[in-house]
Amino acid sequence: MLKDKTIIVTGANRGIGKAIAIKLGALGANVIVNYRGNEVEAAEVVSEIVNAGGKAEKVKADVSKYADAEFLINEAKNIFGEVYGLVNNAGITRDTLILRMKEEDFDAVIETNLKGAFNCSKAITPVLLKARAGRIVNISSVVGIAGNAGQVNYAASKAGIIGMTKSLAKEIGPRGITVNAVAPGFIETDMTKDLKDNIKEEMIKTLPLKKLGQAEDVANAVAFLLSDESSYITGQVLNVDGGMVM
Ligand code: NAP
Repeated sequence: MLKDKTIIVTGANRGIGKAIAIKLGALGANVIVNYRGNEVEAAEVVSEIVNAGGKAEKVKADVSKYADAEFLINEAKNIFGEVYGLVNNAGITRDTLILRMKEEDFDAVIETNLKGAFNCSKAITPVLLKARAGRIVNISSVVGIAGNAGQVNYAASKAGIIGMTKSLAKEIGPRGITVNAVAPGFIETDMTKDLKDNIKEEMIKTLPLKKLGQAEDVANAVAFLLSDESSYITGQVLNVDGGMVM
């Protein structure tokens, strides 16, 4: 389905990004496993894909820096010869109520989550325009749609991603390139592991599907939006949240 299509996944050394990279590798894509600092984890993801018969390489880049984003896209081209898709997955949280939120907490989250997605999208756009084909999938969050106390910075970054997704979809759609977002709900990863069990249980009770999500649930949606089967879908936000936000 994605055979020999080169797809870059940012923040792919762990969590949702790792699950996306492994899924794409299994579907035959040439996967670029981006990581910021943990080379050992990134190498393990590459090995897992290669051992399963897929193709993958790791590339170090801090997506919050434009020069790094440009390097990432160029390296993907150098390694596999072409680039078809980008998954803007890298993200961080610095949660606290606004009264305690420092300016640097706001800036760090915007710089990684929103500017990181902008940097990589800007760097890949000329390549996709030239090819007159391609896919960008941005990982937003239900928090960007519904808001969440203690996440003013994160919600702003994830809402910004939705606006960016729709605007870029309009800009580059005429060249056959789709841009969509996936908005996960509560997914069990390092990002959410510190939440107390009783709070998790209360949250589960409110979910129509009565369970938390797994990284693979998000990976499945991302794979669909990268595939030929989604070629008439652009500028959309697909919630993967067990029915949390409707
Ligand atoms: P995670 O387990 O904390 O992983 C985040 C990944 O992003 C890590 O690989 C991290 O690298 C990478 N990263 C952070 N800053 C980076 C940078 N500047 N450059 C490159 N990579 C960077 O988080 P996750 O739960 O998998 O989340 C993945 C995405 O899904 C995020 O955008 C997050 O906001 C979104 N999301 C998650 C949930 C959830 O419930 N888990 C819900 C909605 C949306 P390091 O290992 O170097 O830190």
